[in-house]
Amino acid sequence: MPIIIDRLVRSRRKTVALIVRGDGALEVRAPQRMAERSIREFVDAHTDWIIKTQAKARLSAPPAPKQFIEGETFLLLGKSYPLTIVSRQRPALTFDGKTFRLAKSALPKAREAFVRWYKAQAALVISMRLPALAAKYNFTYQKIRISSARTRWGSCSSKGTISFTWRLVMAPPEVVDYVVVHELVHTKIKNHSKTFWARVGELMPAYKTHVRWLKQNGKTLTL
Ligand SMILES: [Zn+2]
Repeated sequence: MPIIIDRLVRSRRKTVALIVRGDGALEVRAPQRMAERSIREFVDAHTDWIIKTQAKARLSAPPAPKQFIEGETFLLLGKSYPLTIVSRQRPALTFDGKTFRLAKSALPKAREAFVRWYKAQAALVISMRLPALAAKYNFTYQKIRISSARTRWGSCSSKGTISFTWRLVMAPPEVVDYVVVHELVHTKIKNHSKTFWARVGELMPAYKTHVRWLKQNGKTLTL
C-alpha cells in the first residue's frame, strides 16, 4: 500500500521534509515548484522510516474521543463511514452500508447507541466467521460471547467459550479472521508458546502482518 500524504505544504524552501504529527499524520513540506512525482518518489524512498515513526506516534497518542457530530467518521471492518444527524427515526442509529444516521433526540446517548450497534454487528460478523474458520481448520468451541474488553481482542475460557470485544469489528476483515484463528488455536494450546505461534502461522501464514496492524492501530478501534 502506498504511503498516504495527509498534508502537503509548499513553500519557498529548497528541500523536502517529512514530518510525522503526534496523531501519526504525515505532513510533507516541499519546494513551491517540485513535481508531484518527485515528491511521491521521495516519500516512497522513506517508506520504512515513515511507517516506523507513524507507528510510534500512534502508540503513544490515543485518538480523541468521538464527538458524534455531522461528518465525523466511524469504522466498520477497516473502512470509515460518515455520520449524519437526522431529525427523527427509529431505531435511533442506522447504517445503510454508506452512512451512519443518528436521530437528533438520541444525541445525549449517542455513545450508548453506537456501542449497542457495534455489539450487534460484532455478534453478526463473529457468528459467521467463527463457525466458518472452526470448520475449515477443524476446531470445536462451546459458545461465542461479545465483550467490551478494552485491551484484549479475544479470549478463550477453559470451558470453550470464545469471547471477542465488539471493538474488533472496526478492524479490517483479515484482522478479524486472524483474531478468530488465534482464539481457535487457544482451544487446543492455551499459552503463547512457540508451538502456538507455529500453529497460527501454519493456518495463517501472514499472521505477523495482522499482529503488527493491531499493535499499530489497536488504539484507534474505539469510540
Ligand atoms: Zn492469545
